[in-house]
Amino acid sequence: MRRLSTGGLNDETSQPRGTTEGGAIVTSDVADVPKLVSELRAAQPAWENLGVEARARWLRRWADWLLDNQERIVAALAADTGKPVVEARIEFTVPVDLVKYSARHAGQWLRTGHPAPPNLLNLMKKTTVAHRPYPVVAVITPWNFPLGLSLCDAIPALLAGATVVVKPASATPNSVIAAIEGWEQIGAPPVFRVLHGPGSSGSALVEEADFIQFTGSTEVGTTIAKRCAERLVPCGLELGGKDPAIVLADADLDLAAHGIAWGALANAGQMCTSVERVYVESAVYPEFVAKLSAHVGSLRRGADVGPLVTEDQFDIVRAHLDDATAAGARIAAGGDTDRGSRWVQPTVLTGVDHTMACVREETFGPLIPVMPVENVEEAIALANSSQYGLSASVWTRDVRRGRAIAARLEAGAVNINDSHANVFFFAAPMDGWKQSGLGGRFGGAESVLRYCRPQTVTAPRAPLPYQRYLLWFPYTGTGAVVLGRVMRALAATGRRRWGW
Ligand code: NAD
Repeated sequence: MRRLSTGGLNDETSQPRGTTEGGAIVTSDVADVPKLVSELRAAQPAWENLGVEARARWLRRWADWLLDNQERIVAALAADTGKPVVEARIEFTVPVDLVKYSARHAGQWLRTGHPAPPNLLNLMKKTTVAHRPYPVVAVITPWNFPLGLSLCDAIPALLAGATVVVKPASATPNSVIAAIEGWEQIGAPPVFRVLHGPGSSGSALVEEADFIQFTGSTEVGTTIAKRCAERLVPCGLELGGKDPAIVLADADLDLAAHGIAWGALANAGQMCTSVERVYVESAVYPEFVAKLSAHVGSLRRGADVGPLVTEDQFDIVRAHLDDATAAGARIAAGGDTDRGSRWVQPTVLTGVDHTMACVREETFGPLIPVMPVENVEEAIALANSSQYGLSASVWTRDVRRGRAIAARLEAGAVNINDSHANVFFFAAPMDGWKQSGLGGRFGGAESVLRYCRPQTVTAPRAPLPYQRYLLWFPYTGTGAVVLGRVMRALAATGRRRWGW
């Protein structure tokens, strides 16, 4: 097992440079994963026993360290992914903000409960319900938001008292490594590590960890879920998407055009929550397409929209574009591509339909297929006709109507007159439906509690002699008979109370 420090950034093969013994950063052979996990498991009880407020203090100190090292980490992120620096800075800030929010509330979320006795039988019991963490949480993440997704899943797990090993995508590890290096530099307990490696490293982690939080493709997520089912360990899955946008005839079309362009093209369309299909009421379709195309055509290469992160992704996007144009789709804006620089010009497609890959499958790139619909009923039916159900947006001046449409959409989140808004709203869950996931992330208290198992402890309120434990043997005593009758009388209603 090699321990690394981030002496510098890397090349296409994404091997971090520089090594130091004793560091928190680990690159590992698959064979070393059990050792890594057992080290974390050994460190976990002390981390849990520190208590939530002390854990929150470590996270706040680490967030300060991140801020002090922002430009280095942002540079690593931009270099790994090719995204504009502005987008890298936003991605950097989200986990820092999450530390602030979650550290403030975690004590209250994790407070031990004392449920009141639910029935006569338990009257003499004092019961506590504590939230005990899964000892080792594996966070496995993709290449599109390597830093944001890795840290946003790790933060609540650490607050819960779990230890965490992050396995970033092998193409984009450096910002994650740089950030978690800070955990060691502030002298925090050895409970937060990075495992740098390919898919097989992730697979080895799935064999060892106690909870798997996975973000990535539906295909890999399904494989992980099957293995977790066999091992009987829980997993959270944030998977692919094919988010629809519905533009109603009463929408502010300038707002819709700008919001949908950003929703589809931020991070060069490589967001699980990217707008990937647009349904427009036919009365405003030509005007909307004109506004969208003009705005998309004005976006600047590099400053607004960067290249795709990997060549494989370029090939998928290019294949969707070729498939659509071969089947008769028209390019209303954009359309240029260059494999050498992994550049796909933001592209608006018209004349598209549900036979085309760019409308049915996840593209994960800067294509915007736009379709006219007769009315809102058709828009809802088409929006719901996908295997995915991550999020959606509705564009209308009538917010009440927007809410009514949201209630009929099969998606974990619906943003009215905005794109991606729910992703930044930590207090609410981000939860994919259908093939988009299982379990989700964020959601206030739930973001931390999902990394915990409830532990119920009952104890007598006062010492009792054994004869007073009415449920115990022998069953022949009159006490048990009386107890049964009293319990029935209290549990039932009406004449049934007096049966038996
Ligand atoms: P991917 O599924 O190929 O890989 C994701 C991670 O899993 C990587 O770290 C990879 O090394 C690892 N991995 C691969 N095979 C594995 C296995 N058998 N066991 C364990 N780990 C394994 O995904 P990707 O191509 O890196 O990312 C793109 C996908 O991620 C898209 O489908 C996108 O929609 C999805 N995504 C979803 C969300 C969300 O929150 N729903 C967010 C971002 C991206």
